[in-house]
Amino acid sequence: MKTKLLIILSFFLSGEMFAQQLRVEPANWWVGMQVPQLQLLVYGKDIAAARPQLNYPGVTLQRVTRVENSNYLFLDLFIDNARTAPGKFDILFQKNNKTVNKYTYELLQRQPNSSSRASFTPADIIYLITPDRFANGDTANDRVASLKEGVTRADENGRHGGDLKGVTDHLDYVHDMGFTAIWMTPALQNDQPDYSYHGYSITDFYNIDARMGTNQQYKELSEKAARLGIKIVMDMVFNHCGSEHWWMKDLPSKDWINYSDNIRYTNHRKTVTMDPHVAKSDSVLLSDGWFVKTMPDLNQKNPLMANYLIQNSIWWIEYAGLGGIRVDTYPYPDMNFMADWTKRIAVEYPNMNIVGEVWIDNPGIVAYWQRGKKNQNGYVSWLPSLMDFPVQSALIKALTGEEKYNAGGFLYLYDMLANDFQYANADNLVVFADNHDIRRLYDQLGKDEDLVKLALTFVLTSRGIPQLMYGTELNMEGQTDGQIRSDFPGGWPGDAVNAFTGKGLLPAQQSMQAFVKKLVRWRQGHPVLSTGKLVHYRPLKEAYVYIRYNEKGRVLVVLNKNKADLSLDLAPYRAELGAARQGVDVLTGNSISLDRPVTVPARSPLIIEIMN
Ligand code: CA
Repeated sequence: MKTKLLIILSFFLSGEMFAQQLRVEPANWWVGMQVPQLQLLVYGKDIAAARPQLNYPGVTLQRVTRVENSNYLFLDLFIDNARTAPGKFDILFQKNNKTVNKYTYELLQRQPNSSSRASFTPADIIYLITPDRFANGDTANDRVASLKEGVTRADENGRHGGDLKGVTDHLDYVHDMGFTAIWMTPALQNDQPDYSYHGYSITDFYNIDARMGTNQQYKELSEKAARLGIKIVMDMVFNHCGSEHWWMKDLPSKDWINYSDNIRYTNHRKTVTMDPHVAKSDSVLLSDGWFVKTMPDLNQKNPLMANYLIQNSIWWIEYAGLGGIRVDTYPYPDMNFMADWTKRIAVEYPNMNIVGEVWIDNPGIVAYWQRGKKNQNGYVSWLPSLMDFPVQSALIKALTGEEKYNAGGFLYLYDMLANDFQYANADNLVVFADNHDIRRLYDQLGKDEDLVKLALTFVLTSRGIPQLMYGTELNMEGQTDGQIRSDFPGGWPGDAVNAFTGKGLLPAQQSMQAFVKKLVRWRQGHPVLSTGKLVHYRPLKEAYVYIRYNEKGRVLVVLNKNKADLSLDLAPYRAELGAARQGVDVLTGNSISLDRPVTVPARSPLIIEIMN
């Protein structure tokens, strides 16, 4: 009896009896961060009426901010690294000197070298995965009672059941293919009634969607990947949330969201940022207008929101051991916020590479956003990398367009690459031929496998960081978004075709998969591809020639679009080839004499590793 009472008493004193569970974000933090400030969002019924206090050596509660909505409190903590040990402490919330609620906060020890962690570089090759569509490793999470949308695999816009376990289970495939980084489209909770599989309508920035798995599984995926030398690149969204985000039902303040009571839509004019003739109204609408009705536009000009987003990113880097970040719709959030965000990430993680999506074919506009670029209007960006949409578009035009007198064909690509002068660091751009938003490469190139091989050869041997979309190695097809992101064969129980084992693949798919694997793995062993200079030559007769070279080696690449073999005299390339007389055909392994013209097979690439 006495014991029972004691248990009840200690239960009461421990605070478990408080009527409501507070939501506190971030739910934990770390000791030893560069920036000692931490701002907590506290959410609970009428919590603003309470007076928060805490007592932990080294930690000071510096400021309490109350907003329009009395269900929120924002607490500014100062964590003195020199005096604070990792551990737990209670934040007490008091009314009339009585504790009405409490939250046990935890400060963790950082992983060794967390700040100086490595990130993806041109030495990496990124594999892009839409996790709902890659592999269903756990059919038990296909439907989750607390979340609105279940699985309808027959619907191209529905959820198909793929998950983090599916990716984890097949890391060996990704590793075997030679990829060293995985960019996964967002796996955070998207509790929308429909069309939620893509992940870009986030309804909880701190939790993995239960249909994808758990936070713990995300962390385990990252750890297992790291053991295989694979970095996880998290896809982050700062422009918007999902309309079913938990705070949408009870906003902290009206200005948490732009146009919260009268929706206006973005004009998508990505030129407004640098256009010297721009109208203010157009400029405001790009960043403050909503993307679509189901994606409320976050107001990053609100400093509480800005802090929330910055800390959320740092939390995920620290928690999950991230090796990179991809930022969605980079020009759409407030541009000053994006500069603050990237700068803060650079302060905490000096090596962190971050690639932004600025989806436009104009290299001048893409270059504007890269760190180191001197902009006429004085805007200073801190973004290290961008998706190379201009080269993507030029590559497809080069392979599908006919060469005419001084125009067309490979001249698209040749002329586009000349624009590298506009970039602060063209070598850190991400080069790709397709992604989750544009038609599958196989479709862009008229289902022509020869052209696909030419395109992928360029992606894997040009300057920059190559990125391939899952399934491109299998000639996967797709025009609409849902088809582009179709299911990877072998990822679902009972699949007749299994690309992980090769079972049931068509000969053309086997050939493409082997081609990609060969080139990806070969690139990994040849640092000249990631560090060498690129010199290219004016395209002639439907062929494009370039050389990658430095003290680590020399590689000559020929892309031959002709329907006939090409006999290529090497004399024009002697300045870069030097006196070398022998090379190796990378795709066949055959030895090649450089003393006489080389034969480039019809509609094929020829890659020669130059031997000294
Ligand atoms: Ca599943």
